[in-house]
Amino acid sequence: MSSGRAPLSKIHQVLAERAEARLSDAALRLLVEQTGEALVLMDAMGTVLVFNSEAGRQFRIPMPERLERGGLPGCDWVRADNMSVSLEVSPLTRALMGEPVREERWGLRRPDGTVVVLRGSVFPVSPDGSLKPSGVLLRAREELLPRLDAARGAKLLAEAGALLGAELETEAQMEPLLRLLVPTLADAGVLFLGSSGESVRAVAAVHAEPERHVSLVEMLCRYPPDSLDPRGLPALFLTGRTERTAELSEEHQVALARDAEHARLLLSLGLSSYLGVPLVARGRIIGALVLYRTDGAPGFGDEDERLAEELSRRTALSLDNARLLREAREAVRLRDEFLGIASHELKTPLTPLHLKVQLLQRQVELLALNGKPVSAERVSETLEVVQRQVRKLTSLVDNLLDVSRITAGRLKLELEEMDLASVAAEILYRFAPSAAQLHCSLELHAPVPVLGRWDRLRLEQVVTNLLSNALKYGAGKPVRMSVEADGRTARLTVEDGGIGISARDLPRIFERFERAVSDRHYGGLGLGLYITRQIVEAFGGTVKATSELGAGSTFVLELPRGDIPEEWLSVAGAPEPSP
Ligand code: ADP
Repeated sequence: MSSGRAPLSKIHQVLAERAEARLSDAALRLLVEQTGEALVLMDAMGTVLVFNSEAGRQFRIPMPERLERGGLPGCDWVRADNMSVSLEVSPLTRALMGEPVREERWGLRRPDGTVVVLRGSVFPVSPDGSLKPSGVLLRAREELLPRLDAARGAKLLAEAGALLGAELETEAQMEPLLRLLVPTLADAGVLFLGSSGESVRAVAAVHAEPERHVSLVEMLCRYPPDSLDPRGLPALFLTGRTERTAELSEEHQVALARDAEHARLLLSLGLSSYLGVPLVARGRIIGALVLYRTDGAPGFGDEDERLAEELSRRTALSLDNARLLREAREAVRLRDEFLGIASHELKTPLTPLHLKVQLLQRQVELLALNGKPVSAERVSETLEVVQRQVRKLTSLVDNLLDVSRITAGRLKLELEEMDLASVAAEILYRFAPSAAQLHCSLELHAPVPVLGRWDRLRLEQVVTNLLSNALKYGAGKPVRMSVEADGRTARLTVEDGGIGISARDLPRIFERFERAVSDRHYGGLGLGLYITRQIVEAFGGTVKATSELGAGSTFVLELPRGDIPEEWLSVAGAPEPSP
């Protein structure tokens, strides 16, 4: 009996055929995605039928609907020298004309400006065997050749040499150096200066893609290198060795980020492989050159590493030379300035000395003409002036000699037991006449002896320097000195209410020749505090200043009391200080 329906066996056959078709479709799609090559199938009218995700990655464009005249939207076919080639000779156009294109090498400038080198084929497809193809199939893979051949590497080094040869005055010159490497050797690079333990700064950063460049600069501004955070600096700052990572995973980058925003910026850069080379000068790490490749581009090879190391070596050398030159110039400038001040300072006591002696000589001559004797009082008055000025000259020359002794490492200490409180009292007593002349009151608070082992003359020199500065810069306000013991440490404080020192000048006043006042208003060589600090440090102690401009200064000296008997630490057990 005929029911008008297809027999059951026929239905089974159709279903089986459909399932087979679906399966082969899925298998085909899988193959298209899994080949690892870019695959593009288009018909002769330009309609795109297949465009796999590898094609999207290589060309950096989404799947287009149509390809007009053998061009990829936003992309340019380029020659090895980066010049664009006309569309008529592009591989797609040639295949559309019926010419099979087999295993050729092409350059493609992508919409973001980067150039990828591809190796591939384009086959004309004619299902009916006709000469005019009904479509073309493109297969391409990224060429895994090193980016730099020996000739380009040598050219790059020569160009870097020219940049580094010019005197490196500013860090701004570091960016052109990075631009030589990006995108030739890397897709992104950062040059850091500094060393771990000190501050490290990113002085130049370049990313080949303009938008990502902005993100890189923003990231370095918002999240500058942090030498205190173990994740804040590449490990090469500690090891001093080149680092290479073929695959920078997203998890690894997220682990390096300090917060979510940092992670977002970091991931937006598309970094996929890393090469970090330390900049080493005189055995010290002075910075690092770090390079990245992006979006799964082949990682850095041995040749790349050698080139980056050579470039870092030359950069470090140039930076070090520039630093030495700057320091040498600064030293010469300081020396010239110092010679000017020193001559002036040495001449100042000579003028009254010369005048007084001249005056006495004239008086002696005049009195001799009249046959009269010279009064002892007048001679004594002149001699007093002479002595005062000679003392000043001696102290200036002594300071200069001390500096050369310190520089040559010849500062010798002769330690003996003594009482810091008595030393302070004695120096105060010596300064009483000058303080009275300045109408400045001097106070000492030293209720108990503070015994220790020090060099007497050097200790006197230190206290003298601090007290004479307090009077000189004290603007006539009261000066207070105190001496106390704190276990095995002796402390002497000199406090004045004078002109004070600005926060900007404070860190440098203990340096050689450094002064925070104009030499027109205050004489001095800028050596007293330098010598003070050197002596104090030779005792194993410290000297610190706190001050505010216009509100006086406080200098605190802390000295270890040396190898003294335990019982001296308590006042009761201390022996009578020697006179
Ligand atoms: P000098 O007094 O010969 O200039 P110093 O080395 O003794 O050299 O002092 C360095 C500088 O420190 C001085 O030039 C002055 O600017 C500043 N200074 C030192 N002591 C004081 C103080 N008590 N008050 C204000 N400024 C001071």
